[in-house]
Amino acid sequence: MPWGIRSSRTAPLPADWWRRRTIVLKRDGYQCTHIREDTGRRCTEKATDVDHIGEAHDHRIEMLRSLCSWHHNQKTARQGGSRARSGKKSVSHPGLVSD
Ligand SMILES: [Zn+2]
Repeated sequence: MPWGIRSSRTAPLPADWWRRRTIVLKRDGYQCTHIREDTGRRCTEKATDVDHIGEAHDHRIEMLRSLCSWHHNQKTARQGGSRARSGKKSVSHPGLVSD
């Protein structure tokens, strides 16, 4: 899956995106920077994507962060909006709870 070619993002990536991307990945140690809300710990997955913290057109190094593909997909899906997969799935059947 090639990156950056004709993606559906609204803001175009800068010409030096690959340089910025490498800087950000190195800075973050090639590890996902997502902080888990339940444990307060950083995700331990390998970072494969660089995400915009702020606006999609704000490409400053300090406004970029490394994410694993899973967390990046999570964010992208949320931004896309129309997909309503917000937590309903985790409700377990009361009869199945054994402890
Ligand atoms: Zn992650």
